[in-house]
Amino acid sequence: MIRSITYDMLFGAWFGIDNNGQPIFFGCVLLQDETLRSFAWAIQTLIRFMKGRCPQTILSDLDPRLRDAITSELPSTKHVTSIWNILPKVSSWFSLQLGSQYADFKSEFDALYRLESTEDFELRWNQMVSIFGLGSDKHITLLYSLRTSWVLSYVRVHFLARMATTAYSKSVDAFLKGIFGVQSCLRGFFEQVGIAANLQNERHQEIQCQYMHMKTCLPIEEHSRQILTPFAFNALQQELIVSMQYAASEMANGSYLVRHFRKIDGESLVIWIPEDEQIHCSCKEFESSGILCRHALRVFIDKNYFQLPEKYFLSRWRRESSLMFYDDHSVHDKDDEWFQEFQSLTETLFAESSITKERSDYIRRELTKELTRLLNEVRDMPENDGAPMDFTLTPTD
Ligand SMILES: [Zn+2]
Repeated sequence: MIRSITYDMLFGAWFGIDNNGQPIFFGCVLLQDETLRSFAWAIQTLIRFMKGRCPQTILSDLDPRLRDAITSELPSTKHVTSIWNILPKVSSWFSLQLGSQYADFKSEFDALYRLESTEDFELRWNQMVSIFGLGSDKHITLLYSLRTSWVLSYVRVHFLARMATTAYSKSVDAFLKGIFGVQSCLRGFFEQVGIAANLQNERHQEIQCQYMHMKTCLPIEEHSRQILTPFAFNALQQELIVSMQYAASEMANGSYLVRHFRKIDGESLVIWIPEDEQIHCSCKEFESSGILCRHALRVFIDKNYFQLPEKYFLSRWRRESSLMFYDDHSVHDKDDEWFQEFQSLTETLFAESSITKERSDYIRRELTKELTRLLNEVRDMPENDGAPMDFTLTPTD
């Protein structure tokens, strides 16, 4: 994401998503220009920072030079443009041009974006272009040429971990507002970045401690609650609740047609392979978000499953994977034994202190005091002694 700011430079920020659906701020860059070379440098720097690991999926806006830089620097990464970056453009490109026809165009555009099948999309897109006389429009040509990076039927087969949602985009905006809200000088700006990142970490800890209420009495729900983070559990719980409104009909080939009792959103095809407990739904919700959809859940319930198979709990959404840190290349090295010991000690400390409010208040106060003191001492020490050590957030699915 690139935004222009004062200081006559461009600001770009890298975000990921954590196990609780919250943005993780990876870092930011200041660029002097918007050339392919500068964007390529920014991406190379990020990859170096991530120790050579490239992301599985990357989301950006429609900037053509940024797109080109991503294609050349991250050739094996799926590039997606969120619909939230496209809709404002659609309005500015077509509302004046189409005038009174724009409302009809927009409703067709919204429906097209959500279609489940790529064949349906291709057919209806051509119909829409011809109905509204947009065959030679350059923006329509652009949107069509980029269709595999924004139309849901193309994008949903790639793992997005719920990053293309309104909620995620709002959290990122709130973070950026925190940075740009108070500005005095460049130094003040960097301090503001640090403050915003710390506030974000505190928010992550609050979310981690949320209590998860049962809503359905289904054994699948109870079992999932023990495994998933609050964010992932809430998402699965919503799907479980809605799955009650669906009926599954088995077909001759063993697949299922799952439809809503009012047939609001058509029907989904669920393929069930009993030998290795595999389930695939035509809506591709699991492939896209890592959370099973209402249609697949309906079939599991019909098949008297009391627990979902382990493989449907991605490590990305498991509580046990939350807030874990590790060293990229030397987890088993002796040098890192102290880190493992430290991790085990802190886990015990947090478990013991969470028993009462008095304990947790005491630990929070004392830890903050002691960690701040240590941090200040460490910052006063030399930065390089020839043995660099850095820790990276756990990469997730
Ligand atoms: Zn589905």
